[in-house]
Amino acid sequence: MYLSEKAKSINPSSTLAIDAKFKAMKAEGIDVVGFGAGEPDFDTPEYIKQAAIKAIMEGKTKYTPASGIVELKKAICEKFKNENGLTFAPEQIVVSNGAKHSLINAFQAILNPGDEVIIPAPFWVSYPEMVRLADGCPKYIYTKEENGFKFTAEELKNAITDKTRALVLNSPSNPTGMVYTESELNEIADVCVERNIYVISDEIYEHLIYEGKHVSIASFNEQIKDLTIIINGVSKTYAMTGWRIGYTASNAKIAKVMANVQSHASSNPNTIAQWATVAALSGGKEEIATMKKAFSERRDYMVERINSIDGVSCLKPNGAFYVLMNISKIKGRTISGVKIETSDDFANALLENAKVALVPCSGFGNDDFVRWSYATSMENIKMGLDRLEAFLNN
Ligand code: PMP
Ligand code: GLU
Repeated sequence: MYLSEKAKSINPSSTLAIDAKFKAMKAEGIDVVGFGAGEPDFDTPEYIKQAAIKAIMEGKTKYTPASGIVELKKAICEKFKNENGLTFAPEQIVVSNGAKHSLINAFQAILNPGDEVIIPAPFWVSYPEMVRLADGCPKYIYTKEENGFKFTAEELKNAITDKTRALVLNSPSNPTGMVYTESELNEIADVCVERNIYVISDEIYEHLIYEGKHVSIASFNEQIKDLTIIINGVSKTYAMTGWRIGYTASNAKIAKVMANVQSHASSNPNTIAQWATVAALSGGKEEIATMKKAFSERRDYMVERINSIDGVSCLKPNGAFYVLMNISKIKGRTISGVKIETSDDFANALLENAKVALVPCSGFGNDDFVRWSYATSMENIKMGLDRLEAFLNN
């Protein structure tokens, strides 16, 4: 069949594929525990749901400007002022159908064919494919577990070529959970300013930092602010994954290009969800604190248990809700009759035999790891780890 070569080369999202497999098994009545897609298990807070119902009842059910309603853009500007010390005007904000869509818009806006984008590995599975969709070339900096999965300003300098247009920065990170310190970010910012490259700063997990506080790379000076496209959204912070609202803050010229692209691709994001997001951003932060406390307890338990099991280990992440488990010592072993040679083999064998769904990190740029999401109940976490332990003792 005649198809686009570019579209054919795009791999499916492994996170969503695992989640779909887990949900299908569950629907068949199989007793499976899922740690696949990073999706908070909490319900969307009541005040946000009420705001959506109110919007429907008031007839706020029509098209809006393609890049979002001005009320939401103003609420986003307030958020940046209060939480990040950043001043943006509404024309610098573009509201989209989730942060994923915001990222797609950003790459579409800044890349020309052959432009390189530096992506530190391990990375969230969608970044390289998004760059390719915009005709760019992903280039990787392979970070090491012994360095806390962080790259240095020096490594960044060495990775930059005359084709480099942008760096993808994701702190706190999916999948490693690591968080860059203010001084590390400052050094990275200096390199980006000196070499005049954009920073796509994906800050979607900014509220999920367990020790310390988030710092946006855009906050150091006007030059780096001008080069940064901040990506954020309400999926993770407000348990609003299904509402599909993400947003960017950037130089107004880039925002205009992204808004133009979006005006043809999707028009405005869901009107009702936009009004619900105004309420989310303007509301109290008690629910965030409650969720964060639960995530922190689950993280501590998971990390301790994994490190007490023979053959696997993990670092203690400081942000997001993922743990990367090192399975390099398991590779080469045969478990339940299956020879484990890759992270895919491991994840498949664990799913088939122990009914535990994890994400193999083959799609994340490091095949020695599998990813657990601890955005699920403590009960599930205990069950999942018990099953892992029994599986490895087989
Ligand atoms: N960035 C990262 C790092 C993520 O983990 C996710 C998770 N889906 C997204 C962006 C996209 O989030 P959403 O589209 O749900 O806003
Ligand atoms: N970002 C989450 C994850 O990595 C949700 C799924 C996705 O969008 O990839 O699991």
